[in-house]
Amino acid sequence: MDYNSFLTRDYKSLTTPVSKPTAQWTSLHTLIILFSITSIVTVLVLASPDAKATRTEHTLISQEIPTLRPIQQITLPLSIPTAKTTVKEITRTETAPHWSTFKIKTGDSLAYLFKKHNIPANQLHQIMRSGKPAQSLRTIKPGQQFRISQNEQQQVTELFYDINKQESLHVTRQAEGFNAEIIKRPIDTLSTFSSGVINSSLFESGKAAQLNDALIMQLVGIFGWDIDFALDIRKGDRFSLLYEEHFIEGTKIKDGPILAAEFTNHGKTYRAVRYTNNNGHSDYYSEDGRSMRKAFLRTPVDFRRISSRFGKRRHPTLNKIKLHTGVDYAARRGTPIKAAGDGKVTFRGRKGGYGKTVMIQHGGRYSTLYAHMSRYKKGVYAGKRVKQGQTIGYVGASGRATGPHLHYEFRVNGSHRNPLTVRLPAAAPIAKQYKDDFIAATQRVLAQLDARNATHVALNN
Ligand SMILES: [Zn+2]
Repeated sequence: MDYNSFLTRDYKSLTTPVSKPTAQWTSLHTLIILFSITSIVTVLVLASPDAKATRTEHTLISQEIPTLRPIQQITLPLSIPTAKTTVKEITRTETAPHWSTFKIKTGDSLAYLFKKHNIPANQLHQIMRSGKPAQSLRTIKPGQQFRISQNEQQQVTELFYDINKQESLHVTRQAEGFNAEIIKRPIDTLSTFSSGVINSSLFESGKAAQLNDALIMQLVGIFGWDIDFALDIRKGDRFSLLYEEHFIEGTKIKDGPILAAEFTNHGKTYRAVRYTNNNGHSDYYSEDGRSMRKAFLRTPVDFRRISSRFGKRRHPTLNKIKLHTGVDYAARRGTPIKAAGDGKVTFRGRKGGYGKTVMIQHGGRYSTLYAHMSRYKKGVYAGKRVKQGQTIGYVGASGRATGPHLHYEFRVNGSHRNPLTVRLPAAAPIAKQYKDDFIAATQRVLAQLDARNATHVALNN
């Protein structure tokens, strides 16, 4: 794979004055390039009605000068309100002599640490009794640390403990006992644009576009219902996405979800946008509110190979020409078998040559059948409701089978269809009563995606 040529090509317009983006770039080069980018962005800002969001983007890019971040990845503040929490101003006085820092090592207990630092025994007891926030001290882990200030009697006057990246415990001495509170640092959410052209694999070009594996898998999850990422990907396929990045005090803590994305496969473009309904459930939809998901999984098992297709064939054990009413997926014994769609189990038990079998009814028209199981998943029985993707049993060779495989059948209005080719219905679209809310909530993010795509094209041509 010619990774470098991909990089060079993709960045070519950005690097016109310099032949390759290498480590030998001087900061002067960086400044020149970033200056040109910010100028272009400024022009776009002036042309855009959404001046507020883009102005801050300008600032953010400037801040990024020292890090030589790929220009392709532009960060701008998200339009949705960020989860800001009021933060109490913390006066850090570590330099004062009465402060000490304890680092927790494997096997250390708080009692041990307090004793080691000559803190009177009743102090820990009182702190632990100071309220619920102090209970976070029960879960200290090696590598974490405390900052404690003490008075002349060695008593604790103040204690700081970082519970995790977002929360700290702050304990202060009162006239009587202690007061403990949790301080939450606000998470700043930014939306980041990224795009790429596939040269050899989605994985490679995703990496080149600064996407980590989890984000690439998110992208696959969104478009995987329409595009077979194992077989359909072609050189020249393109993707672009807006995703959240979460920061605390300027340090990135994690990536958030993809907000909107576009994937062009073999000349056909798919677009998806994330929408969270009023139950707090998030999913991806096309711009007009159709679900990106199908009501059924194409294959309900992670298989090694298809050992027998749908249609007429000579039966391997009966040696007669018979209609094979399903697809056989050869898989390791014990491989989980998933419910292809939401539905209700109508049968669980032995069924002649099918051996251990589960049947599921999905609404009025569709039903699926899973045969030759080695065993059923606990809790799956007739009458039970199951969700798409939920494990219902395990691959085996019960009944008439030459080796471990799943025999899978798909029926529409009672008649057998080829599970590999049957047109799968889409999952439920946005309900009518939420359509206006959906449009209002997604319009802006889709416009952002378009604007970033346009900027990116402008920069590369
Ligand atoms: Zn079969």
